[in-house]
Amino acid sequence: MAKKEFKAESKRLLDLMIHSIYTHKEIFLREIISNASDAIDKLCYKSLTDENVGLKREDFRITIHADQDNRLLTVSDNGIGMDENDLENNLGIIASSGTYQFRQEVGKDNEDVDIIGQFGVGFYSAFMVSGQITVITKKYGNGQAYRWESDGADGYTITPCEKEGVGTDIIMHIKPDGDEEDYSEFLQEYTLRNLVKKYSDYIRWPIRMEVTKSRKKEDSPEDKPEYESYKEEETLNSMVPLWQRKKSDVTKDEHDKFYQEKFSDFTPPQSVITVSAEGQVSYKALLYIPARPPYDYYSADYQRGLQLYSAGVMIMDKCQDLIGDHFGFVKGVVDSPDLSLNISRELLQHDRQLKLIANNIEKKVKSELERMLREDREGYEKFYQNFGRQLKVGCLNNYGAKRELLEDLLLFYSSTEKKLVTLKEYVDRMPESQKCIYYAAGEDVAAMDNLPQTELLRERKMEILYLTDQPDQLLMEILREYKEKPLRSAVDGDLELEDMPEEKPAEDYKESLDFIKEALGDEVDEVRISRKLKTHPVCLTCGEGVSFEMERYFTAAQPEMGLKAKRILELNVDHPAFAALEGARANDPEKAKKYAQVLLNQAKLIAGLPIGDPSGYTDLLCSLWS
Ligand code: ADP
Ligand code: MG
Repeated sequence: MAKKEFKAESKRLLDLMIHSIYTHKEIFLREIISNASDAIDKLCYKSLTDENVGLKREDFRITIHADQDNRLLTVSDNGIGMDENDLENNLGIIASSGTYQFRQEVGKDNEDVDIIGQFGVGFYSAFMVSGQITVITKKYGNGQAYRWESDGADGYTITPCEKEGVGTDIIMHIKPDGDEEDYSEFLQEYTLRNLVKKYSDYIRWPIRMEVTKSRKKEDSPEDKPEYESYKEEETLNSMVPLWQRKKSDVTKDEHDKFYQEKFSDFTPPQSVITVSAEGQVSYKALLYIPARPPYDYYSADYQRGLQLYSAGVMIMDKCQDLIGDHFGFVKGVVDSPDLSLNISRELLQHDRQLKLIANNIEKKVKSELERMLREDREGYEKFYQNFGRQLKVGCLNNYGAKRELLEDLLLFYSSTEKKLVTLKEYVDRMPESQKCIYYAAGEDVAAMDNLPQTELLRERKMEILYLTDQPDQLLMEILREYKEKPLRSAVDGDLELEDMPEEKPAEDYKESLDFIKEALGDEVDEVRISRKLKTHPVCLTCGEGVSFEMERYFTAAQPEMGLKAKRILELNVDHPAFAALEGARANDPEKAKKYAQVLLNQAKLIAGLPIGDPSGYTDLLCSLWS
């Protein structure tokens, strides 16, 4: 019997398999089982119209048998089987369109690892663990059985043989253990059982294996029981995935259990989102919003991603393409029969399908969050406490690419409502005369209620958003506006009030402003008369440019940039403190300079900036008492 050569492309792929240093060799079992499942699908379908099949739905099964002595691992199915032609066409070549793609991908600095892991290469992957593979198969409706045999490298043979029923046995001759590689584990009950659980749990046909169990010996006494082990065939997989069941049939309890087990969380999820989509791409998804952030959520170690299945077979554990960073907290599974497990169906196609699914999922997550915001405010605030910062960062990232998606989900503390509000709620309440959305940043709410610069606004009972979280101010500066209303800093910006107090003629004060500027030297960039202060004597602002918050942020992130905010000292010329300074300027200029120093330091303290030399400052204050 002459050996036949594999087709050239298949040969290359085989080489890759045989010499693969791929660490996830274990996926071979998933591939072989999924082929068995496909074969059963085909025969089961036939049985609907052809009563000669003689098998009922519950008769179909996949059986795993490990023979440790002979190092044989056999996966059998009673599916459609193959005839001589099928063997030639299906196991001899790989559908060529995809192979080309595959080779191109592999060509790129050895990215083979991921490609194999994600979409598999089907039957050939069994050569990663087998020195030789024997396939014994009989096709439905064809009396003759065939034996296909190959050691991978040199080709294959096909010979007629005997086989009882219809179906296929894939007999893998497991390689001997190497110095570093352990192949024997693939003959062990424990490993096989785990692999089925991990990758093939939701295959809809029973996967059966004889397993070792232990029981009390019948005649052993109750108080001194003796045990014996025995073998029994068992179904290893759970078969029906939660996401394939009708939404209304799955209880909260089942969801909680599934989520907690699958994603190793002690706490049940806060929200469940069920998706069943048909159209350009069909898929089912179960998505969960955790009730608390994973311990490593805000660290670089956290890996987002959804688990990806194709018709009950796990393809990828954390598929990042399915969920963006901004919703990175979402956990869940996506199952799409349109994503073939096999590489031969063009990776590009997968890309497009994944994108469609991802877009769809993004919408679903957003509408669930919007629903919570509407119907369960308390729940939403709890969510926001956990993952609000993620939404903010999501707004900032990629130059605000996701801002439209996310801006309505943001919450800020309102000075007038005394609770968290959305930008939309703020705008809906705005009197017509108000031009901007005001915000102020600070350590805590109480401190901001006393901020000198917001006096004018507070006097007019205008709503101010208090920013207490670190990325907030930067966020406002990047967003710049919401629904065409400018976001304006109540501290530094132009308030655009209709009834702004009259501006004081600067020339009347020129002399004293110049005096103060000179007294303070480089410590301030400018000294000017404030229009915002009412009862407070001074404040420090940065004008419309770089804010103090940006300066802080960039000094930490990129010190070499040397980004600096302007320091503008604003004075309330109606305040007694200013009068005192003016008085001193006439009689005792040295004292007046000290007053200027004191005012600057007060302003720094209020702005939350360090006052360079604290003990110098106390000395200065004390010197003024004498
Ligand atoms: P894919 O499953 O994506 O088609 P594989 O390399 O896994 O690619 O399998 C190649 C082909 O071999 C299958 O399409 C199928 O026609 C055939 N085949 C493999 N295993 C079996 C089996 N157990 N029963 C029947 N046909 C099979
Ligand atoms: Mg396959």
